[in-house]
Amino acid sequence: MLDKRKFYINGEWVEPAAQNDLYVLNPATEKPIAVISLGTAVDIDRAVAAAKKAFETYGRTSLEERLALLEKLLAIYKRRYDEMADTMTAELGAPKTMSREQQADVGVGHLQGYIDALKRLKLREKLSNGDTLMREPIGVCGLITPWNWPVNQIALKVVPALATGCTCVLKPSEFTPLNAMLYAEMIDEAGFPRGVFNLVNGDGLHAGAALSKHKDIDMMSFTGSTRAGIAVSKDAADTVKRVTLELGGKSPNIVFADADLEERVTASVLECFNNSGQSCDAPTRMLVERSAYEDVVAIARRVGREATVGDPTREGAHIGPLVSHIQFERVQALIEAGVGEGARLLVGGPGKPEGFETGYFVKPTIFADVDNSMRIAREEVFGPVLAIIPFDTEEEAIAIANDTSYGLAAYVQTGNQERAERVAARLRAGMVHINGGPHRYGSPFGGYKQSGNGREGGTFGLEDFLEVKTVHLPDAA
Ligand code: NAD
Repeated sequence: MLDKRKFYINGEWVEPAAQNDLYVLNPATEKPIAVISLGTAVDIDRAVAAAKKAFETYGRTSLEERLALLEKLLAIYKRRYDEMADTMTAELGAPKTMSREQQADVGVGHLQGYIDALKRLKLREKLSNGDTLMREPIGVCGLITPWNWPVNQIALKVVPALATGCTCVLKPSEFTPLNAMLYAEMIDEAGFPRGVFNLVNGDGLHAGAALSKHKDIDMMSFTGSTRAGIAVSKDAADTVKRVTLELGGKSPNIVFADADLEERVTASVLECFNNSGQSCDAPTRMLVERSAYEDVVAIARRVGREATVGDPTREGAHIGPLVSHIQFERVQALIEAGVGEGARLLVGGPGKPEGFETGYFVKPTIFADVDNSMRIAREEVFGPVLAIIPFDTEEEAIAIANDTSYGLAAYVQTGNQERAERVAARLRAGMVHINGGPHRYGSPFGGYKQSGNGREGGTFGLEDFLEVKTVHLPDAA
């Protein structure tokens, strides 16, 4: 078992202020793979002090100097790529193939996307009224990340902070700290100055809250549940920090009868199950035009039956376990709620899949005849669970799609391009995917309503970490 009890503060791996061990479990075996420390407000103070000191000089580095450091980080990440993928298989349970092709790959994509955006960034511009506008790093940033796409979230926050000249303290999820510690090793090797990047492990209530409340933190960038995002916002309010939030989702996927049903429904079910259903933007509510309803249900049932769970250390397209016992219990409770509320169970259901008594595996599950008022349609399940809901008209589909407190992603499947654009314009969501259009690196990622307020990736992601200063000169004589 790995001993990972130190924190990375001011360019060194240091002992925590107090001994407070937490075991990191492999979700497929339920066995400990590492021991970490849970940090306290004292550790956060030390890390913030280091970041504050480092900002005095790093905040004034040139864009070219920072680009060179990011290019180095990218080369190191690529060299240690397999290690990153294997780490996420071990602590998150992401199957080997998925870990390598998706979970680790996004680390490269976002870093490259930010490097490209940084090259285009205008830090100084003349306004048409003659004033000068300057963009400057906001300062010391507190970054809190979840476990579900762990290095994705780290890259989406750490990279723009470092790119813009900010300094930061990262508190990754206590369930998946090892990929974050590996990322810290890479930043160290890339040669970022001491104190520019710091990492303190810990839970939300202690280390997380200490960061959000800290008077020397200028901005909090948070990704996680809406519940914790609200807590971060409240904790940050007394010191009037900027807070950017990337929160949960319950994304609608509108399937019109004129779509290529076989192709689009198959892909949609698989996308809902990807990463064991633990994606904030997963298409979890499939709204289906009534005239195609039974055909779609038949395709979904077949795809659901063919989906298999399996050992994450094996190559293949199978589904891994959920990350933790807590998530397993939550998902089970929601599957039971679906049955209890009278949805039609097509595939899966409560309990563990046969042969998987150990590990946090759940059965890939599909419900049909779901009403949008049921818990499985309203709450983020965060497991491989799909809810199918019928609709009669385009207007009704839009109304059901928007009838949610979330607004992260939305999906539209139709053979009619005009309709696709018309519907996309009416959906209250930060990202709309039409007929499988993927999210591309460099485009803003983020949501409306209770899915948050930030936009990560590319130019928009950099802007979140910048202050705007206007310089007024006297009128020319
Ligand atoms: P979580 O909110 O429980 O934890 C996320 C992070 O916040 C962890 O590091 C945790 O320690 C910390 N935290 C928890 N309570 C806190 C508090 N009171 N103060 C400060 N920090 C606190 O979420 P999770 O279970 O790790 O992740 C899953 C959630 O993240 C889902 O809701 C998912 O939709 C969301 N998510 C959103 C996006 C997005 O970009 N919109 C991306 C990935 C995940």
